[in-house]
Amino acid sequence: MNDKPFAITLDVGSSLANKTGSWRTERAVYVDRLPPCNNACPAGENIQRWLYEAEEGGGGYERAWRKIMEDNPFPAVMGRVCYHPCETSCNRAQLDEAVGINSVERFLGDEGIANGWTVDPIREPSGKRVLVVGAGPSGLSAAYHLARLGHAVTVVDAAPAAGGMMRFGIPRYRLPREVLDAEVGRIAALGVEIRLGTNVESILETMEEGGFDAAFLAVGAHLGKRAYIPAGSAAKMLDAVSLLRSMEGEERPQLGRRVVVYGGGNTALDAARTAKRLGAEEAIVVYRRTRDRMPAHESELEEAEAEGVLVKWLSTIKRADAGTILVERMELDETGFPQPTGEVEELGADSVVLALGQETDLSLLDGVPGLEVEDGVVQVGPDMMTGHPGIFAGGDMVPAERTVTVAVGHGKKAARHIDAWLRAGGYAPAPKHGLAEFDLLNTWYYSDAPRTLQPELELARRQSTFEEVVGGLDESTALFEARRCLSCGNCFSCDNCYGVCPDNAVVKTGDPEHPYAIDLDFCKGCGICVAECPSGAIEMVPERI
Ligand SMILES: Cc1cc2nc3c(=O)[nH]c(=O)nc-3n(C[C@H](O)[C@H](O)[C@H](O)COP(=O)(O)OP(=O)(O)OC[C@H]3O[C@@H](n4cnc5c(N)ncnc54)[C@H](O)[C@@H]3O)c2cc1C
Ligand code: SF4
Ligand code: SF4
Repeated sequence: MNDKPFAITLDVGSSLANKTGSWRTERAVYVDRLPPCNNACPAGENIQRWLYEAEEGGGGYERAWRKIMEDNPFPAVMGRVCYHPCETSCNRAQLDEAVGINSVERFLGDEGIANGWTVDPIREPSGKRVLVVGAGPSGLSAAYHLARLGHAVTVVDAAPAAGGMMRFGIPRYRLPREVLDAEVGRIAALGVEIRLGTNVESILETMEEGGFDAAFLAVGAHLGKRAYIPAGSAAKMLDAVSLLRSMEGEERPQLGRRVVVYGGGNTALDAARTAKRLGAEEAIVVYRRTRDRMPAHESELEEAEAEGVLVKWLSTIKRADAGTILVERMELDETGFPQPTGEVEELGADSVVLALGQETDLSLLDGVPGLEVEDGVVQVGPDMMTGHPGIFAGGDMVPAERTVTVAVGHGKKAARHIDAWLRAGGYAPAPKHGLAEFDLLNTWYYSDAPRTLQPELELARRQSTFEEVVGGLDESTALFEARRCLSCGNCFSCDNCYGVCPDNAVVKTGDPEHPYAIDLDFCKGCGICVAECPSGAIEMVPERI
């Protein structure tokens, strides 16, 4: 019997089974298609599968958590900071609203922490040593996977604590540090050595001194970009990354009553929201384009606006002085590029925070032969190896979107290739299955089920404390949300094929991975099972003659 409440199940066919002989021209085959959510997750998580496990509740949560951990060691962090491109691609969005994948992942991550679930290596010790530079998401993800693959890993980081931008960038109201600590601690418990407060000045020297066989570099992008803004000597200007980093120190930065943040990305909004929480009466983001062109995510902008952050659109800072700035109004030209208008106005600003993006400090690579650096980032091949054999790189320091999830995905990919390189083999990822497009689904089988909303902290507390803003789902809402998944392109044991086959050719195998098989002595190739499968997990293939 199907235990999923959101799909109708048909009764088993009552026809007598007829042996069909060999006149069939097509036969039904069970397939595992690639769901669009899985395809869009930069960490390569098998989302459909872990949601399927979670749908059972109880012991299913641990199985679901373990499935995530095969690809990503940070489910609780992901469930808070990932911009969830999986949901943007989710087929359910075409039916009502996308499955809340991110919120279920957070629930499972929190269950993992609360229950103290741990993971073990999957391979025997290899005797090989790998150096990882940078304990951000990319370095830690690589270290985790390499350790599970049997290698001895040392992570070196200049900072006093591990986490990279997850700790020194993303504010606590979006990622509580006890969550980060728990997930980093689990990686250390695998036997990964994390050496903090140690700046690597030359990668080749550090590799040689430590006798490392390979290295993975993930030093991120920490240098705040500066724009030339004429400024009086008393103007207070600082960069957003330094401001956010200082929030992890002993002393709270003094920004004053009116804080202006210059930039339009997520970092600008984090800086403005942090300024508000530090007591600024006004936090104004000055951005040179329009709302629809802002690189920050809409949800972050909405949260910031709800907390009272103001945005001055189509504006640039012309000059900064003590207590004031001069802002020029811009207008977009026909190509959408902002052009100055010459119209200026004065704004009060006790401090100006520059959030204009970050650059990578690549000085540790000076003198490394074979490396290719373009636009300030290191070039890597499809195996994440730089032009220098044995030195791999990922995360913000290579050309890619700069997110925690992309960084984590790079770490996993690099680990698999480093493992293959160390073992003098090649790593070939499993071939991708065809995409489970929405059109393949029989959506009328699925019941209406509106998306579950996550609770939010009340506004007064949001404006004055660093408590977490977005709350998690509880057991019943997480279960409900997991069950909204349509299981695109993959069998979810609904029994419909078993029920509709007029020749009783569908048999149950008892294997949870592949619960049904077609008995070809009875299948006459009518295709009813394919037509009736809710999730598009069966296809007709030409009969082999
Ligand atoms: C304010 C802010 C908010 C963000 N919010 C989000 C978000 O909500 N969601 C999201 O997905 N992404 C977010 N991002 C982006 C995300 O944090 C980064 O893309 C991600 O952290 C990059 O990971 P990484 O491992 O490449 O580098 P990092 O996280 O930057 O880590 C690099 C590490 O290397 C260390 N290091 C550098 N040089 C050396 C050296 N020479 N020797 C030793 N150690 C060294 C650093 O100390 C650091 O710990 C945000 C970024 C910022 C700045
Ligand atoms: S890591 Fe992000 S993209 Fe991947 S499943 Fe989680 S929320 Fe979705
Ligand atoms: S319905 Fe489920 S399997 Fe399909 S795209 Fe959404 S989360 Fe993935």
